[in-house]
Amino acid sequence: MLLVALAALTLAASPPEAPARLVGTILVEGRSQARLAELADLIGPRLSGSPGAAAAVQWAQASFRQDGLAPWTEPVRVPRWVRGAERASLAVPAPPQPRSLAITALGNSAGTPPGGLTAEVLEVDSLEAARALGPRAAGKVLLFQHHMAEGLGGYGESVALRTRGPAEAARLGAVAALVRSLATASLRSPHTGTTTFPPGVAPIPAAAVSVEDAELLHRLLRRGPVKVHLELECGPGSPAEVDSANVVAEVRGRERPQEVVLLGAHLDSWDLADGAVDDGAGVVMVMEALRALQALPVAPRRTVRVVLFMNEENGLQGGVAYAERHAGEVHVAALEADSGAGRALAVEVGAADGGTELMARLTAPLQWLGLGPVSAGGGGADTSPLKYQGVPMVTLKLDTSRYFDWHHSAADTFDKVEGRELALDAAGIAVLAWQLAESPEVLPRPEPPAEAPRSRPAGRP
Ligand SMILES: [Zn+2]
Repeated sequence: MLLVALAALTLAASPPEAPARLVGTILVEGRSQARLAELADLIGPRLSGSPGAAAAVQWAQASFRQDGLAPWTEPVRVPRWVRGAERASLAVPAPPQPRSLAITALGNSAGTPPGGLTAEVLEVDSLEAARALGPRAAGKVLLFQHHMAEGLGGYGESVALRTRGPAEAARLGAVAALVRSLATASLRSPHTGTTTFPPGVAPIPAAAVSVEDAELLHRLLRRGPVKVHLELECGPGSPAEVDSANVVAEVRGRERPQEVVLLGAHLDSWDLADGAVDDGAGVVMVMEALRALQALPVAPRRTVRVVLFMNEENGLQGGVAYAERHAGEVHVAALEADSGAGRALAVEVGAADGGTELMARLTAPLQWLGLGPVSAGGGGADTSPLKYQGVPMVTLKLDTSRYFDWHHSAADTFDKVEGRELALDAAGIAVLAWQLAESPEVLPRPEPPAEAPRSRPAGRP
């Protein structure tokens, strides 16, 4: 009798059934929305070095333990940058009454002198155009305009204006920089993000300006000189660096535990809102995937490890620290969930020749998601340091057409995440992780990138 029961259990738990069990655990017995509510509503903003980030580290460990996992933390030294009061107004052409501009400081921005600064605005639409100003930029506020119209591709084209524009302005002697928000929709909400001042370039005040106010400044500049008044109280915290942590948990492989499939997301967020979309959604997806894998009667052949990275938004120190600490291990694939919770569209893979074909076979149990063909690509910010170790990258590509409506703004809140899509994406990631961890074949390893890996925090000398 016992033998029969055991045989039935083994049969029921046999690996071919695993994808269906994973999907059931996440969709029918799911915790996606409950988890997201805990992180977004009860903890809220989680900028590196903040009390919110520290609370998120504690929450993630407790939440993993509730799932029957044994999480641990790995130390990460993170920069700490603090936003203060911030405002901007139009000085010239002088309005009949005070007229504010909707701005918010970019991460790593310097503060303005006490009382703020007032200076003339010069508008540019590229880094080259900024450099071409030469000495004319000295003493001015450089306004970086762009025409980002659509999601991920548009962001990729324009993001250098935010990350590198203010440093370019600083080199030219400008007193401040304004960057048109990288947004696909705007209700006059500025969108923050990190900016980088390389060694030897002293940070200047740098702020995102709402799309509407960037347009206003553009129209006014066609009439004549424009001056703005800017007050930012932001700057490095005291201390400017603190100890924080990545949170890690795993399901050990039953045959090749030393081979790791990594699932990543980032625990930190910007400070303006709850980071439900960026990256609460990704955190929930990978945690749910691991919970479902842990609940299987039989572990996959290889280890599936979830890493909740710290400091993706303003330094990438969690990603760098993980890659350094685990350089001696065999990662057979790394998947990062960091593009919101839109509908799953396709799987992307960054591997050597044959990787796309293998991935196409491995995605067979995902056809219920209605995915398009597997294509080359993939990767995420936190997992990018692993590329230098030749780790294949896998991405569940999501619909990001609304992602940049809310990204890095005060509107990144729980209500923006569709619970149904969140759970479906989590289930998709769970099945992908199973397939990668169970397959007899592994993805062929790609050539590491030629350029030097990133090893220092962005924006700090
Ligand atoms: Zn993110």
